[in-house]
Amino acid sequence: MSEKYCVIGNPIAHSRSPEIHTRFAAQTGQDISYERCLAPVDGFAETIQRLVAEGYKGANVTVPFKLQAAQLATVLSDRARAAGAVNTLRFADGQIFGDNTDGPGLVADIVKNAGVSLQDKRVLILGAGGAARGALLPILRERPHCIVIANRTRATADSLAQQFGQHAERADQVRATGFEDIAGPFDVIINATSASLAAELPPVPASAFSKDTLALDMMYADKPTVFMEFASKHGATTRDGLGMLVEQAAEAFALWRGVRPETGELLKAMRSQS
Ligand code: NDP
Repeated sequence: MSEKYCVIGNPIAHSRSPEIHTRFAAQTGQDISYERCLAPVDGFAETIQRLVAEGYKGANVTVPFKLQAAQLATVLSDRARAAGAVNTLRFADGQIFGDNTDGPGLVADIVKNAGVSLQDKRVLILGAGGAARGALLPILRERPHCIVIANRTRATADSLAQQFGQHAERADQVRATGFEDIAGPFDVIINATSASLAAELPPVPASAFSKDTLALDMMYADKPTVFMEFASKHGATTRDGLGMLVEQAAEAFALWRGVRPETGELLKAMRSQS
């Protein structure tokens, strides 16, 4: 019998996860169903209880429930614990396992799909919210020269730099800065702010970019974001968050089913649709 999975969020109608996981299942010959699940804003825990009772095997978690999912999980992966956020749940043996595949998905997209190694690179992360937190440990594991975190609220960037500095190889490998003090250029710049959702540009200076910069916006849309346009105008190669979305889904699928789907063809097909 087909095993049940879903993606939980509020809102959820826009989610492309059912399309992605259905394609993965067909490709790998796995017998699963995958649907959207709208949870009430104040009813996440009850929704999870219901899914477990109904025999679901796992779920992806999206806005605004990633922090609650980390609290609800009975077992956390190292990367989910470091991020303080969970985007993938697996229900097995009476436990709720929580993982965070957003950061690994981002790294897979940069390294595998864009063909850009992060080793010894200067990486700038704009933003210090959940998505930035999830990205830091997986990026650090690629052994970059440095990671500089810039955030509108400076104190949040300082606290992330302090926390993730504990996982660094060198004292100054992870550091925080204000937007006004960004000193570039950087090899890789990741926009992990939610500014693009409001069609706004985070106040990153043009000097952060060069013709050798890869500028990635975690947001995906059917046209380039304001950040991508700005980066491109200043010589950078740009990328949106669709590859990250597909790669984080592949990581989640591998966790649930023990087989990692191939992502290249799906990503190409999704890009040609949008
Ligand atoms: P959060 O709400 O947790 O964090 C938002 C961050 O953006 C904060 O650092 C905030 O700064 C900053 N910010 C918001 N508006 C502005 C602005 N106008 N100028 C500068 N900084 C701003 O969001 P998430 O971390 O969950 O998500 C961030 C982005 O990543 C979203 O666009 C989301 O869609 C995308 N994402 C994409 C994924 C994918 O698979 N492609 C997966 C996960 C996220 P402050 O602290 O000062 O408020």
